[in-house]
Amino acid sequence: MLIGEQLYEGKAKVIYKTDDPNNLLAQYKDDATAYNAQKRGTIAGKGRMNCSIATHLFQKLEASGINTHFIDQPSEDQMRIKAVSIIPLEVVVRNIAAGSLCQQTGLELGTVLQQPLVDFYYKDDALGDPFLSRDRILMMDIATPEQIDALAESALRINRILIDFFLKCEITLVDFKLEFGLDHTGQMILADEVSPDTCRLWNQAEPDPNRRVMDKDRFRRDLGDVESAYAQVMERVLAQPVQ
Ligand code: C5P
Repeated sequence: MLIGEQLYEGKAKVIYKTDDPNNLLAQYKDDATAYNAQKRGTIAGKGRMNCSIATHLFQKLEASGINTHFIDQPSEDQMRIKAVSIIPLEVVVRNIAAGSLCQQTGLELGTVLQQPLVDFYYKDDALGDPFLSRDRILMMDIATPEQIDALAESALRINRILIDFFLKCEITLVDFKLEFGLDHTGQMILADEVSPDTCRLWNQAEPDPNRRVMDKDRFRRDLGDVESAYAQVMERVLAQPVQ
């Protein structure tokens, strides 16, 4: 595979063209941002750790019948992916109250939700990725009613697979963010990444509310030991079979 010109640089990945117009290369970066890039830093080794974690989770999801953009992992911090046109929605699934849900509803951190909650946000940095209702998504012509239903259904299926997977890692999946895109055939597939940057993950063996955090909240909230938390997630994830 030949690596071509840079197509796009995001906060956590650089995307390059390849010699195949249907395939791209994602170069995972150590750069970390939070609060819509108001906080910036680096997490040593994050690129290769997130690339390996995401690879393993995409393989698990593929083995469970979810179509993703993953093709292969040519090196530790590089993933070959299918080219998609990204649907500009961040699809968040929540199992336990944390983060913006607590801030916006007053729910206490750690409240177990009666059923998973699917929230949509507009993927637009300039607007600060605002929360969108179904009616606003339709009004803005971002997705059709069928696509909104398919996104929510797919996100909930992914949630069930990942809850079970992380349970085997002795990790609680609190919430996570997904992005979807349309491939060259028009099929909707899972894109972006699934990693400690995009999921809240709590160590089940650790009751302390700060020490249990194994995800980007360690960076966001200056909890320290960010690298070792990511390394611990990687070790546990890679130890589980994908089949
Ligand atoms: O910020 P909030 O509490 O709504 O985040 C919910 C989940 O979505 C968290 O797991 C967070 O890491 C993820 N997220 C993300 N990228 C964003 C916003 C949220 O990965 N831009």
